[in-house]
Amino acid sequence: MPYLGPDMTTRLSAMFYTVEVGDTKFTILKRYQNLKPIGSGAQGIVCAAYDTVTAQNVAIKKLSRPFQNVTHAKRAYREFKLMKLVNHKNIIGLLNAFTPQRSLDEFQDVYLVMELMDANLCQVIQMDLDHERMSYLLYQMLCGIKHLHSAGIIHRDLKPSNIVVKSDCTLKILDFGLARTAGTTFMMTPYVVTRYYRAPEVILGMGYKENVDIWSVGCIMGEMIRGGVLFPGTDHIDQWNKIIEQLGTPAQEFMQRLQPTVRNYVENRPRYMGYPFERLFPDILFPTDSSEHNRLKASQARDLLSRMLVIDPERRISVDDALLHNYINVWYDEGEVNAPAPGPYDHSVDEREHTVDQWKELIYQEVMEYETSHNPSATPQSSVDTVAGSR
Ligand code: AMP
Repeated sequence: MPYLGPDMTTRLSAMFYTVEVGDTKFTILKRYQNLKPIGSGAQGIVCAAYDTVTAQNVAIKKLSRPFQNVTHAKRAYREFKLMKLVNHKNIIGLLNAFTPQRSLDEFQDVYLVMELMDANLCQVIQMDLDHERMSYLLYQMLCGIKHLHSAGIIHRDLKPSNIVVKSDCTLKILDFGLARTAGTTFMMTPYVVTRYYRAPEVILGMGYKENVDIWSVGCIMGEMIRGGVLFPGTDHIDQWNKIIEQLGTPAQEFMQRLQPTVRNYVENRPRYMGYPFERLFPDILFPTDSSEHNRLKASQARDLLSRMLVIDPERRISVDDALLHNYINVWYDEGEVNAPAPGPYDHSVDEREHTVDQWKELIYQEVMEYETSHNPSATPQSSVDTVAGSR
């Protein structure tokens, strides 16, 4: 790492200040003011802030200790790479990225500045959504997913906490899901990973294709209608039980594609007939106004659900066909559905194995590269300040 010299080091550190948010310290560029915590995830805390340079509200995520282990580091690196690459209105966009530390040795934290949204989908699912809002939210999820697929990124872990919306009903997906090799690295974490929305082929460790993400959309849609999680398993086994109790034991042709040990387990479960979708999602759960329009929409919604919540991916609807389904296609816009694919994503990132120190260096290089290309001549204002307590 080239030494910048005492002048430059002072000038750069003068651009930052530290503010305490709860029990986390945010050391951020002075242009970002008025921090308020809005969420937290496996990687750290997210704050809303006001960007005094662009006069817009933003979200700032602190990747806390991204090198504490290989899983965190790989995820941080992958997410950062993908955020830089992808540009679609239904995927969260990166506005800025920086680290307050000025050398690889000191390097600790990464801050990602993103567009600010109003709420995540967990909060919205609780609301009584009308058909217009529900179908528009689903349409946008499908557009975002299709765009990721066009870059060869199959998410496999879509869930309400990683989808954010604005009060005008616009929606963005926050993350890029599981790396191809995910699941091979074991990690002890106090953070509970939500698996309710994972498709049968993920739970059962099978191969998968793009419509693995349709299952998650089906789970989210079903939850919007039912007002509760569809398959709230305490673990994979319990979750599989919840799925087959409601949807029925899958056919032999599905069983034949399972690995022998999994197949043995799955075939030895009690057999379930499952319930018709009219029972799983009865009329009473849909908007109560009994106009012709609403009745038509309810039957279309149920039809779409019955095509998405299909255990066997070979029989499950594709993303393209879901976008054309009559519950969704009222929103169809060629520019949103078929936006130009992002530049190619180097999938070797997903397969790479590095030590924590190597990951640290790789992430540091990425942040430096971003800073150099996006903030080449930021002007310092004064020395480092500490501002306490904004909550
Ligand atoms: P994450 O760490 O990305 O899993 O985000 C954790 C939570 O922070 C999400 O569930 C959202 O509630 C919130 N959040 C993250 N990013 C944003 C954003 N750009 N706008 C609004 N809320 C956000």
